[in-house]
Order: sequence, then structure tokens, then C-alpha cells
Amino acid sequence: MVQRQLDAYKQERDTRRRAYLSAPSVREKFPRVEQVALELTFSDPTGIGKHSPQTHLLGPAARAYFEVACPCSACLAGGFDLSAVISDMLSRGRSKVSGKLSCHGWQDRGRACEHRCLLELRYRATASYEPSVDAPARARLERPNRLAVRR
Ligand SMILES: [Zn+2]
Repeated sequence: MVQRQLDAYKQERDTRRRAYLSAPSVREKFPRVEQVALELTFSDPTGIGKHSPQTHLLGPAARAYFEVACPCSACLAGGFDLSAVISDMLSRGRSKVSGKLSCHGWQDRGRACEHRCLLELRYRATASYEPSVDAPARARLERPNRLAVRR
């Protein structure tokens, strides 16, 4: 049983990793974006768990992958998917979005599907964009990678 659980955690990590690796870069998906900053804070409704806040900075070369793993190590099939909100913000050229989400994973510990995790995430995302130029996005995409500014 314990082994099966460990496998489930490993499988989940592998799936996440594959999704991350197959995500396009921020530059490919949102050519005008210079940087995206994600500020994340977590609160445990039971008051038991304490999880450090996180800040993620994504430059043009980063993967356009906006799923946040649940910081609770016992949580299975949880996490927070910010893809839709962030993609929406970036495709509209907005500079700020914030909100909160609850984790719908399971607090497993041998009793699968008994307790929802429900850890709460508050997020604030800010984005900066290159000044809009007339050069078509296509030209920027074809710029060799080594000339690209890494942030
Ligand atoms: Zn969770």
C-alpha cells in the first residue's frame, strides 16, 4: 500500500514534468512579454500547515507553464492551475491579475479520497511588455536564441 502511494506521487511528478517540458516558451506564446512575476501565498484552512510564500519570475525564455504544485507534501492530485488566468492576462496585454484558488487534491496518508486538501492559494501576477513596435511578432520569433536576452 505504501509502495502504491509512493508510485502515485512519482507518477504525478512525472506527469507534471512532462507537461512542463512540452510547454512552449513565453516568447513563443506571448512574443511581447518581457517578464511575468507571480507572487504566491498559501493558507491552510485547518491552521496546521505553514507554507512559505513563493515568488516566480518568468522571462521570455521560460516555459509558459503556469501550474503551481501544492506545497503540502501529502497532497495527491492537487495543485493550482493558473494557466487560464495568466494566459488571458498576457493575451490581452493586461499588467495585473490577482485572485485565490483552493486545492482540490486529497490529503492521502493511507486513507485515499477521504479528506480534501483545500489549501488556499492567493496569487498576484504582474506582467511587463516590450514597447509595442511595428515589427511583426514573427521576426522576433526567428531571432537566434543566443541573441535573446536571458532574464
Ligand atoms: Zn493540496
